[in-house]
Amino acid sequence: MTRSLKAIGAIVVLALAVTAAHAGLDRSIEKMLGKQSRDAVESQYAVIAQGPAAEYVQRVGRHLVEASPRHDIEYTFKVIDTDQVNAFALPWGYVYVTTGMLRFLDSSDELAGVMGHEIAHVAEKHSLSQFKKQFWATMLFGVIDAPATLLTVGQVGTTFYLLRHSRKDEQAADKLGAGYAYLAGYDPSQLSGFLSKLDKERKNQPSKLEIYLSTHPTEQRREQRLAELPEVNQKNPEVVARRAKGFLDRHLANQAVVEYRRAVDLAPHDSGVRAGLARAYAELGETDLARQELGRAAGLSPGDKSKVEALLAASSVAPSSSAAAPSEADQARLKQAQDAAALWSADAQDPVRRIEEQSKSLQDKVKQLARRMNMVGTFGSPGYGAERVMEKAGIALYLIAETRDRVNGAAEELKSVSSGAVDALGLVKQSYEQPASADDRAQWQALMEEIAGVVAGASDSGGRVAQQALDAAKRADDAAGQLGSALNSLAADFDSFGGVRGVPFMGLAEGDVDRALKSARDAFETSRKVDSALHDWTVRELSWRLSTAYLNTPARARPALRRMAAAMIGTDAQSVAPEPITGGARAAPEQDAAVAGFGATLVKVIAAKTATHKADASAKQPQSAPTAPPAGGEKSPAPAPDSAPKQATEPQAPTGDDLMLKLILADAKREADARSQRQGAASAAPVGQAAPSP
Ligand SMILES: [Zn+2]
Repeated sequence: MTRSLKAIGAIVVLALAVTAAHAGLDRSIEKMLGKQSRDAVESQYAVIAQGPAAEYVQRVGRHLVEASPRHDIEYTFKVIDTDQVNAFALPWGYVYVTTGMLRFLDSSDELAGVMGHEIAHVAEKHSLSQFKKQFWATMLFGVIDAPATLLTVGQVGTTFYLLRHSRKDEQAADKLGAGYAYLAGYDPSQLSGFLSKLDKERKNQPSKLEIYLSTHPTEQRREQRLAELPEVNQKNPEVVARRAKGFLDRHLANQAVVEYRRAVDLAPHDSGVRAGLARAYAELGETDLARQELGRAAGLSPGDKSKVEALLAASSVAPSSSAAAPSEADQARLKQAQDAAALWSADAQDPVRRIEEQSKSLQDKVKQLARRMNMVGTFGSPGYGAERVMEKAGIALYLIAETRDRVNGAAEELKSVSSGAVDALGLVKQSYEQPASADDRAQWQALMEEIAGVVAGASDSGGRVAQQALDAAKRADDAAGQLGSALNSLAADFDSFGGVRGVPFMGLAEGDVDRALKSARDAFETSRKVDSALHDWTVRELSWRLSTAYLNTPARARPALRRMAAAMIGTDAQSVAPEPITGGARAAPEQDAAVAGFGATLVKVIAAKTATHKADASAKQPQSAPTAPPAGGEKSPAPAPDSAPKQATEPQAPTGDDLMLKLILADAKREADARSQRQGAASAAPVGQAAPSP
């Protein structure tokens, strides 16, 4: 009663708000709609509101909001854990990005483009006006039919994120969103990469894009219109320089240099652009080049000049010319390590393919068995041990399914670790080819030795691991066969005594099930060994990835990366490595030495963390009966198909942290690309050659 009264009250408010074009009432209605939709969305999905992934999205969101015109509400940014590639905004500033979307994106600039679009919908109150239109339609056609209107009001909450805006609103959101991204220092032109990926993926995995594609325009024109925006005009030096500054603000100094040089080419006499280029060089520690640019900017304003000078002074990096060049021995060692890693990666291909095939066929068998078990189970009579036998069969099936998962994971990890070694060594090579501080060079060298050490032992142990994985798969396959025939004998028993309550001869079939269970346990134990053999590698690989990202990050941004890594593995930044850098300037050498071995420290912490997790997990291993169907007189004692393995793997609370790492690494990768790009360009044509001499 109270509920419907309340709802009618809401309708009155709505009617008032819709009729009276009153700003205050508009605010109340938007607020109400927003909160209602938020509650509906958050009761439907797993929301990630904290942790590195959420913080990352929130930081990008905050920058975009600052660049947008609407500041009368407080925006909230959250991540939703779902494979659906989607982003949406609710009225009153509730903005959501899914983990599927984060996985889909390749840079923070793409993320900014996607979020800018959603923020534009909020800033322009598109949902509100859409709602008003719908409300009027309902009022006119459903007139005062309270239940019908109630339905609409109630449904609004659950369907707002499925709302399709008008084409006009979508176009406006694209345009405005790109503008916010531009003003916030992101590169809106990267959104076109996202759009073409979307177009491609639509054919491959349309189900994951279903919601996004049904709520966003898909026509080719969207990409074309984006290319026509002034904010992506590659010919306008102001635009290019602005983008360069955005990169520099995010400590992506290599990309900043590439963009600034493009701007210098477009406007060789612009002293501001030259000052920006000098700042970017200074950030990279390339002080010679920075001074050179400074000298070229003849008309540089005194303010800029002193700022750049201060920056140069603050950067205690040795001038690039005096930085240690890599020795011949280093180069040879690196070449050797790279060859070994490439060989390993190639060698791993074949066993990986075989493991994958085995695991695929095992997966099919698990599905068949689950169906079969469900069928047999419904025939079984309660009493006389039928439940007990079905329970054992359930455990055997769970162990087979779990073995399959682990074996499959082993193939993935073999692939990832061997190619990870190749990638990491590639980055080491790039760094050797450019001037680096002595400390950084020492760290790169340590990293190379670490990877080379793993690779040296890897071909042998890798072969062993692959062999073990295949062995586990084979055993699981045997167990599946045994379980299949055990189920057949059970079915035969149940059939012949179908009408009778109680199956006195079931002892024979129980023996079969016991044998299948024993084989399944064997298979499972073997797969656990594979798992722990691979575990060490996985941890090491993660450490290489983090170390290369770290070393590719300019000194000033490193504390942030360290904090992020610490948050990701659930420890404090101090235990990852002490804070060596203060106030944006480079720290004293002894402090830098403290960071040396960032990867090594990190690997210890991660190993400790995952060891604890593994201990937790094995404490929960199914020595008893984790997925056992409930004992007692249930009609169907067998677990439902597929449900057994799923229930048994303890779900991890989603954090999406790995996705954040992915984006950070993607940015680091772009940085590395930009560095090789400009090195290539530098050898072809020295910097600023075309520019007038001062
Ligand atoms: Zn939209």
